[in-house]
Amino acid sequence: MSRSVLVTGGNRGIGLAIARAFADAGDKVAITYRSGEPPAGFLAVKCDITDSEQVEQAYKEIEETHGPVEVLVANAGVTKDQLLMRMTEEDFTSVVDTNLTGTFRVVKRANRGMLRAKKGRVVLISSVVGLLGSAGQANYAASKAALVGFARSLARELGSRNITFNVVAPGFVDTDMTRELTEEQQTKILAQVPLARYARPEEIAATVRFLTSDDASYITGAVIPVDGGLGMGH
Ligand code: NDP
Repeated sequence: MSRSVLVTGGNRGIGLAIARAFADAGDKVAITYRSGEPPAGFLAVKCDITDSEQVEQAYKEIEETHGPVEVLVANAGVTKDQLLMRMTEEDFTSVVDTNLTGTFRVVKRANRGMLRAKKGRVVLISSVVGLLGSAGQANYAASKAALVGFARSLARELGSRNITFNVVAPGFVDTDMTRELTEEQQTKILAQVPLARYARPEEIAATVRFLTSDDASYITGAVIPVDGGLGMGH
């Protein structure tokens, strides 16, 4: 059965791998992008998730073409790393506004159609650092940890409506985001990963797809690490 799927930030990195996994399985996939040329093969809607008006417009466009969103993957996210001493209030609030409040905006809008359909699957992309912590990433880690409380509250609020909310916590994945790290940071990270390598974006996508499948129909409020063992024990 072909479902209406939305992947925020599906134009590159992990989001693009997730969008491809759903499209390969025959779903109707919409992705958001902010600028430039989006990749072909999807319904690409221009949308900055920090702007509720743009979120509303994006959903209208998707609903007209694919019908109400049945599967939402809230993947869009940013980093603005800085030690606390040098972190400005803007560094903090802008990361929270994208990673946490942006996720709230897209989830809230998706919920309308899911309630009506009496079913829905929502997957939020968090990070291993949300629970482990990471020096220089207090803003990012706080925003990613908050997604767990957000998802678990909604799992309780909307479970009886057959809507599941799960969180995927990737470790280090080979994308633009990790390419920004210095060589020294990368070596340090890999030394702590039991599998001794970065994840491929496709390895995150496979878990996301599983969580939206019938095989995962009794899983909600879960935090699934896909981190090569980096966060074991948290
Ligand atoms: P990239 O930096 O490669 O891509 C980020 C994506 O988010 C882009 O599609 C970008 O769109 C989109 N985005 C950012 N801000 C906004 C916004 N305000 N509105 C709409 N879209 C936005 O990141 P990754 O693919 O590496 O990361 C994807 C997710 O996975 C993020 O949430 C990240 O925190 C998380 N993650 C990544 C890890 C990694 O190692 N890479 C590890 C753990 C978690 P645009 O192209 O328009 O900028």
